[in-house]
Amino acid sequence: MLMATVMKPATPPVMPRIAPREELNPFRIAQIQFDMAAEFLKLDPGLRQILRTPKRVLEVSIPTKMDNGQVKVLTGFRVQHNLARGPGKGGIRFHPNVTLDEVKALAMWMTWKTATVNIPYGGAKGGVICDPKRMSKTELERMTRRYASEILPIIGPSTDIPAPDVYTDAQTMAWIMDTYSMIVGHEVQGVVTGKPVSVGGSAGRDEATARGLLYVVEEACKLKKISLRGASVAIQGFGNAGATAARLFAEKKAKIIALSDTRGGVTNSRGIDPFKALRYKERSGTVVGMPGASRITNDDLLTMKCDILIPAALENVITLHNADAIKARIIAEAANGPTTPHADEILARRGITVLPDILTNAGGVTVSYFEWVQNQEGLGWDIDEIRARLQKIMVRAFSDVVDTMRRHHVPPRHAAMILAVSRVAEATLVRGLFP
Ligand code: GLU
Repeated sequence: MLMATVMKPATPPVMPRIAPREELNPFRIAQIQFDMAAEFLKLDPGLRQILRTPKRVLEVSIPTKMDNGQVKVLTGFRVQHNLARGPGKGGIRFHPNVTLDEVKALAMWMTWKTATVNIPYGGAKGGVICDPKRMSKTELERMTRRYASEILPIIGPSTDIPAPDVYTDAQTMAWIMDTYSMIVGHEVQGVVTGKPVSVGGSAGRDEATARGLLYVVEEACKLKKISLRGASVAIQGFGNAGATAARLFAEKKAKIIALSDTRGGVTNSRGIDPFKALRYKERSGTVVGMPGASRITNDDLLTMKCDILIPAALENVITLHNADAIKARIIAEAANGPTTPHADEILARRGITVLPDILTNAGGVTVSYFEWVQNQEGLGWDIDEIRARLQKIMVRAFSDVVDTMRRHHVPPRHAAMILAVSRVAEATLVRGLFP
């Protein structure tokens, strides 16, 4: 079954025929994207079956004592999609809309992401269905520790290494690291990344997703002859990736013309000061209402005229319904899965460059890799070293993707997928099938 090799295609690629009705199930979308690359690479059917399904899925119940004394039983997942190139790697998401299919998709995207930037990991992801905004810190701690203990049999520094994702942070990782270490009886820093620096976290991990994205956008701007200085930037989502991107782009003298969070957005064509937005959000919980900017909706933000649009929130925000109305020149995906395959097709036809998630937001997992290496080796690299290493990896990955685009005349996501899937396929083939 695994005897076939990864063949070079004989004919130029065609965009695959995708179903007439728009698919919004993230796992189905991830499979559609994979099928396109597998078809292009003419992968053996058996190998395709292996790569389009997760290796391991764990669902756990998380009984959690709430502050009022009642016990709430929450549901969590950890999915390992593929471990052919190394241990599983990927964040943990706390969100009310988490589903198993979403976690499966996110795990699969992690496999392609670690392969795109060529770091020695497979892909995994976790999620807990909960509403962290309505939980106290003590409730979150109890839930996190119980979730960590429930997924403990399948995580570890050489098996699967969690990290932060939507609504989880360095504190969440410290609790997981502590829970794991207490249970196994000794300190294991390398079981998670994105930890606080005081307990083995890496310099630069906080800013890594946004900084990696900046490096990729800088390279894309060079190719498209867009000057970042003065370029207009709209950012959907003001969490870690979105807020840090706003700051980094402003430092490069780009103009942040719109920002948003779950409650809505704000715009000012003369530019918004990201530091003021951050301070305002810290006080009032949202950017909406900040002085010096007028109110817009998230939908308005996505379709406004700008040079660079950065979706930095959740999946499926650029779809069949708004792809025709997008006016950005470049879309840089800080979120995972913000663009549907239908929207991709429309944007490609309209000449809008989509810098895909599996390349563009890979700075986070790349600095996670640095953190893990530092933990294994007992090293501590400084911020300049981290940034230099990150830039090298992001620029190399960007140029690998551009080479693939040029060679095969395909849009960036398809090129990144071809590159990533061929690397994972090669590792799977050379290892062979057990037993
Ligand atoms: N959650 C981040 C992502 O989606 C980071 C994962 C990691 O550092 O392992 O890429």
